[in-house]
Amino acid sequence: MPKEKAVHDLEDLPGIGPTTATKLRAAGIDTLDKIAVASPHEIAEMTGISVEAAKKAVQIAQESTTIAFETGEQFYEKRKLIGKISTGSSDLNDLIGGGVETNGITETYGRFASGKTQLGFQLAVNVQLPKDKGGLGGNVLFIDTEGTFRPERIEQIAKAAGMDPKEVLANIAMVRVPTTEQQILTLERADSVIQEMNIKLIIIDSLTSLFRSEFIGRGALGERQQKLNQHIHRLQTLADKYGLAAYITNQVMDNPGIMFGDPTVPIGGNVIAHAATTRLYMRKSKEDKRIVRLVDSPNMPEGECVIKITPDGIKD
Ligand code: ADP
Ligand code: MG
Repeated sequence: MPKEKAVHDLEDLPGIGPTTATKLRAAGIDTLDKIAVASPHEIAEMTGISVEAAKKAVQIAQESTTIAFETGEQFYEKRKLIGKISTGSSDLNDLIGGGVETNGITETYGRFASGKTQLGFQLAVNVQLPKDKGGLGGNVLFIDTEGTFRPERIEQIAKAAGMDPKEVLANIAMVRVPTTEQQILTLERADSVIQEMNIKLIIIDSLTSLFRSEFIGRGALGERQQKLNQHIHRLQTLADKYGLAAYITNQVMDNPGIMFGDPTVPIGGNVIAHAATTRLYMRKSKEDKRIVRLVDSPNMPEGECVIKITPDGIKD
């Protein structure tokens, strides 16, 4: 029996040469999976090949695409490899199931001075601790969009944890981004720094502020949400690919539609609500106390705890 040619690319399909493939790619049909779910008539119309030829191409594409099933048990075994970074507060760790998880996105939202950045600093220090001390033995990519990164504060928290502050700072790759384009490009090009520096935590503080100020008005909302969506999906891809944790902060706005209860809602709407694995709402309480509410988690119940922002960092 003649051996069938392996199908990896559009051009490997019968009846699809370079010209047809170029037309398909230009129309956004750039993978075998997309051919597999396209209608032959649609393909014929786009490219000028016959419907019969398009049918054959779709059929071969369907046969060559694979879906990787795994059992719940296999997935559970993989879940056991998920790492957790201590927040500095045992109450907050308990609230979120042990700490800030790898392979996912943890979001905090809240008003000015609610402690979102301080928690980021604490995580940037703690991720560097060995696993038995609440860290991942890894380093940090810190994307600062608000100009609030403070090495002196990292130094203070690192010293309090008994670590060498110089070393802790050397293990943080800091990028100050002034525009959404640079913010997006930083993640697009992050592969090499992640590998070279053994990055186990990506912080974006904040995810939304530049998007909020650059895309103003109703007309720009669709484009903003689309870019934000791509950006946050890129973050999730990196988290999965490198088994790292992502921590993002988010601003809030007042929703005048809410008449009863707390009118504060996070920016970014459904795009972020769906993409963040764990969502925390932080608000100010008396003095150094902050109330942290777990708003959404795939496996932990809703709840609240109180943390303190001390000179030594986040504590119970
Ligand atoms: P945001 O939610 O706006 O990012 P921050 O995380 O920057 O808020 O929190 C700011 C608060 O952190 C300050 O109001 C202050 O109460 C506290 N804080 C900042 N630095 C220190 C410090 N060195 N010692 C104690 N508390 C601090
Ligand atoms: Mg902040």
